[in-house]
Amino acid sequence: SPSGHPPLTSVLSSVFGHSSFRPNQQEICEAVVGGGSTVALLPTGAGKSLCYALPGYVRSGVTLIVSPMLALIADQLGKLTGAGLTAHALSSAASAAENAAAEAALDAATANTPLYILVTPERMAMPRFKAKVERLAAAGILRTVAIDEAHCISTYGHDFRPSYGKLAYAAALPGVALVALTATASPAVLRDIESSLHLVRGEYTLVRASFDRPNIRYGVIFKSLTPDVYLKLRTLIMPFLAGRSGAGIIYCRTRAECDELAARLYIDGVPAKPYHAGLSKAARAENQTDWLDGIVRIIVATLAFGMGIDKPDVRFVVHYSIPRSLEAFYQESGRAGRDGLPALSLIIFSKSDASKMTWLTARERDRRLAALRKARDARLPSFRAMFDAASASLEATINLCTTASCRRAALLAHFDERLAVRGAARGPDACCDYCSHPEAVAKATAQAASVKET
Ligand code: ADP
Ligand code: MG
Repeated sequence: SPSGHPPLTSVLSSVFGHSSFRPNQQEICEAVVGGGSTVALLPTGAGKSLCYALPGYVRSGVTLIVSPMLALIADQLGKLTGAGLTAHALSSAASAAENAAAEAALDAATANTPLYILVTPERMAMPRFKAKVERLAAAGILRTVAIDEAHCISTYGHDFRPSYGKLAYAAALPGVALVALTATASPAVLRDIESSLHLVRGEYTLVRASFDRPNIRYGVIFKSLTPDVYLKLRTLIMPFLAGRSGAGIIYCRTRAECDELAARLYIDGVPAKPYHAGLSKAARAENQTDWLDGIVRIIVATLAFGMGIDKPDVRFVVHYSIPRSLEAFYQESGRAGRDGLPALSLIIFSKSDASKMTWLTARERDRRLAALRKARDARLPSFRAMFDAASASLEATINLCTTASCRRAALLAHFDERLAVRGAARGPDACCDYCSHPEAVAKATAQAASVKET
């Protein structure tokens, strides 16, 4: 081709085995191949990994991928090597031999062979590694840097990681294409990504997808108005399990709640298993595998479950008590319906749960800030900002549940997105409980607000 590299669509099929690009992927890949800086805001499951893996292959040489979690690194490593590409992880979790192999591959790297190196942000910040990165860039061998889960840069994100703040040097490397990717699109997070990486709006490529998940229907159930929450929940989710495939996730706040709910479903003939930090590592792994394989249809989990999991046929995600923020709610509910087929997101709401969550959030904030203050830790202001953002987002979550209006619009408004097609205009029952039955929801909302909870 005139630009000196093979057409991206042929690389897409011959190397990565996909017949066509998903929305926004081609635009992002072209920008990264072109060598500039790019920020990609794409919902979970949209295919962000391809947006650095493919340009990395086309640009050749070394692609550094910064990822915050060892589980995510392992998953990516498996996918890249599975596609026949050469990839190594440098991490504290890998064995000395594995790390040595990664270092050796990096030392032997050339500009003409694609090589992927996955690293944690902590590794990127180490002076010795930083020096090596700068050397490789100067030699024209390091060609692409991807910062995955880039919201970790921001105190407004739900997974703030101070060492993500030390990646600015990667954005200034000569001849290196930088791409930062995240599924968290709130305006505050984007501003933090820009300032951390010294990117100026208008001078880099910003690709921002719609965060709407049209096949997910949203609903809120008021605990105080529901005589038997369990029965109601079962009635709502069972139709989704009528087929031979299809799975669900129910998020609970406590381990005991997970165990009880899973047991009750199990006794009622619904294959369900718990997943939480109180189980042995082996039991957790077994329950997760059974769920992934469809042997167990429902996983009843604390928030420890789901990060990095890519199961296409999750038909419903239930929050048995209120999500801790709208970012978390978006991520967690977004695990439903990756296959594009109809899916359901339900929040079981009660005022007492909401106050408990508010109290827990405040207590966590006070504890952490007290510890930082005592240690005279310089990160105190950024953590304070993070906790303020967390409280505000929890309040927005409570508002979503306690306001009779379109749930989808409320969720997307938090990510600065206004819906073009709203509510009932999407088709019957395609949006949320409010858009299907505005009067009933308005009535229930008012009633729930006035109920005195014990
Ligand atoms: P994200 O990081 O945005 O959540 P991933 O990169 O993990 O998403 O991709 C989600 C899934 O989509 C993966 O299984 C991946 O193989 C698949 N995928 C990505 N791009 C395409 C494509 N163009 N065609 C088909 N499947 C794709
Ligand atoms: Mg990803």
